[in-house]
Amino acid sequence: MSKAHSHLVVLGAGPKACAIWTKHTALVEEGVKTAPISIIEKNRVAANWSGAHGYTDGVQYLVSPSEQDLGFPYSNEVFGADLTVRLTERMFKYSWQNFLLSVGGYPEWVAKDRPRAPHYQFRDYLEWVGRASKLEAIQNEITKISIDDKDQWSLSGAAATQTITASGLVVTGNGKPRRLSGQPDHHSRIWNGETFWAQRSALTNAKFARIAVIGSGETAAAIACSILDHVGESVVVELICKQYAYFTRAEVAKDLVYFSDPSHWQSLREGRRFSIMRRADRGVVSSTIKTRLEESELVEYTTAEAVQLKVTAQDEILLSLKYDGQVEEVPYQFVVVATGFDAMWFFELFDDAAKLRLFKHLLEQLTSEQTESLEAVIEGKATPERWLEHHTKPKVSRFLERAIERLIDTDLSLRHFSPALHLPMMSGLSQGPGFPNLNCLGLMAERILKSYLL
Ligand SMILES: Cc1cc2nc3c(=O)[nH]c(=O)nc-3n(C[C@H](O)[C@H](O)[C@H](O)COP(=O)(O)OP(=O)(O)OC[C@H]3O[C@@H](n4cnc5c(N)ncnc54)[C@H](O)[C@@H]3O)c2cc1C
Repeated sequence: MSKAHSHLVVLGAGPKACAIWTKHTALVEEGVKTAPISIIEKNRVAANWSGAHGYTDGVQYLVSPSEQDLGFPYSNEVFGADLTVRLTERMFKYSWQNFLLSVGGYPEWVAKDRPRAPHYQFRDYLEWVGRASKLEAIQNEITKISIDDKDQWSLSGAAATQTITASGLVVTGNGKPRRLSGQPDHHSRIWNGETFWAQRSALTNAKFARIAVIGSGETAAAIACSILDHVGESVVVELICKQYAYFTRAEVAKDLVYFSDPSHWQSLREGRRFSIMRRADRGVVSSTIKTRLEESELVEYTTAEAVQLKVTAQDEILLSLKYDGQVEEVPYQFVVVATGFDAMWFFELFDDAAKLRLFKHLLEQLTSEQTESLEAVIEGKATPERWLEHHTKPKVSRFLERAIERLIDTDLSLRHFSPALHLPMMSGLSQGPGFPNLNCLGLMAERILKSYLL
């Protein structure tokens, strides 16, 4: 029996929303009765891939193959073999190959050995899908999420449109960049994975500068490469991460199988799952980027933990780096903090009543050991009110994130929480490492939509 079925709302119109929308369309065309869905977007479809809204300049390349499109992996895990065959036929309409056949470029793409798409082309694909599937997102920037007296989500925003209510909510998106302790909100020479692309032209005049790029993922690596395009020979680009760990997809191939087929994922112990996600997702870069960084005379690597940023009264940027139990303070002319994005970004949109409800729910689900750990970080008895009071502290918010990740159900929602809250970007640890990213968008959509069959 479906656990939520009156209306599903998806926050954000990126690839996840497009995958859910097209699979929903395919199910309806197959005569399968499903709850209606709405998509809310503050900018436009695929905004974060265009280069106009941060995160990329648009000309960076996908790391995952373009064929991992909205229907991928076209598996029959969720709806069984018969319906899957029919859904697959319908989803091929929205496939990467059909996009290229429609707009031109398919033979060239094959001739060039199926290269990865640049982000702007991925945006073109999603926009094309949007038009082909008549996706009309509700234009609004959601600023508040609450739970109404009918136990439904209630989303309201900046636009003067009506409040949107739904029995289920899917949150998408990267979220805001993670910050370092002491990092100012704005500084003309301190950037992050979202802001770097619009501000990097300031590097053109940099002479004899030492530039720190903190992070070990694809964003940090792409930023370091882009810096090389903008600076002269006198500059040093120092890549700082806790553990030097850039891998190409080929180097982690045996782990990548879990990304599109997570059927055995839960049989692995948590530590293994954690390590596969670290290595095969967050640390993976394209071979072109890896080679370029390794061959550049301007790039240096530092294995250390960046613990604190400080801007002095003379506007000097000092970064505290921890290594072997020591901390050293190092001056840099520019710093890019690319340590990842906050998957819990949506939580700050929750009003206090919704936050308290979530804390209460989590407290009921925690083991006594986990409750003790929580009490250690909030330094007192674990009550929803005390958790709310302390939730912005880094250790407490890390605890919250992990507690949610451990409780994600097969439909990618927070287990037993009502109204249904689907968090694909937090589903990696419990359900499979491909759900937060582009590795199994089709399966992600099916897992969620199965709870909305009428
Ligand atoms: C630069 C970059 C490259 C990446 N490359 C890959 C890759 O090659 N392979 C891979 O597997 N993963 C990749 N990822 C990671 C991950 O797959 C994507 O970040 C993620 O899947 C994006 O899809 P999405 O639909 O969740 O979100 P997004 O595409 O980020 O869409 C979220 C949407 O939500 C909207 N939004 C945000 N806040 C609000 C609000 N308050 N109200 C209304 N709308 C709002 C935004 O405008 C945006 O359009 C990459 C991430 C980044 C940042």
